[in-house]
Amino acid sequence: MLTIIQYPHPTLRRVAKPLRRVDAELQRIVREMFDRMYSVKGIGLAATQVDLPYRLFVANPESDPSNPELEFVFINPVLSKPKGQTEAEEGCLSLPGLYGDVNRPEKITIEAYNLTGQPVTLELGGLMARIVQHENDHLDGVLFIDRLTPTGQVSAREALSDFEAIFEGQRRRGEIPSDAEIAARWDELERQRC
Ligand code: ZN
Repeated sequence: MLTIIQYPHPTLRRVAKPLRRVDAELQRIVREMFDRMYSVKGIGLAATQVDLPYRLFVANPESDPSNPELEFVFINPVLSKPKGQTEAEEGCLSLPGLYGDVNRPEKITIEAYNLTGQPVTLELGGLMARIVQHENDHLDGVLFIDRLTPTGQVSAREALSDFEAIFEGQRRRGEIPSDAEIAARWDELERQRC
């Protein structure tokens, strides 16, 4: 069962690797990512957030499992043609309870593969443009807290040290593997699929 990891887990800083192919196992992983995302009312979830170092994310702008037409899967995504600039509040399933304003291009083009291995190109605006930029950042090890304004960073500081203290506690109790064990697991997972 996949678990959503929280800041400052090292996998959230891993630059994810492209996937070699779409197969039944990957389809199972994607289904489970949607289920995990819906269970916490999320609208986007990147593979790195479930501790998998793969260039893959899922989205559903309404977080509505009864509407599969709104389920998007982006494998090996590439973003291009940013247009405009807009500020909006963001949160993240790996930093629950923390929110802050982030400036991003208003429109973006995404090229990726879908779950049947077909290439797709979408020109996006509004919420979907924001979701794919936030999730694509995850695949580069970038979190929305890195993009906060200086004032936003100051307001987030206390919450971030709370997350860090919780993580250190989990490490001390052996609930989170060491950095070396995590890195060995990345290597193994990448050997299998990247
Ligand atoms: Zn996030």
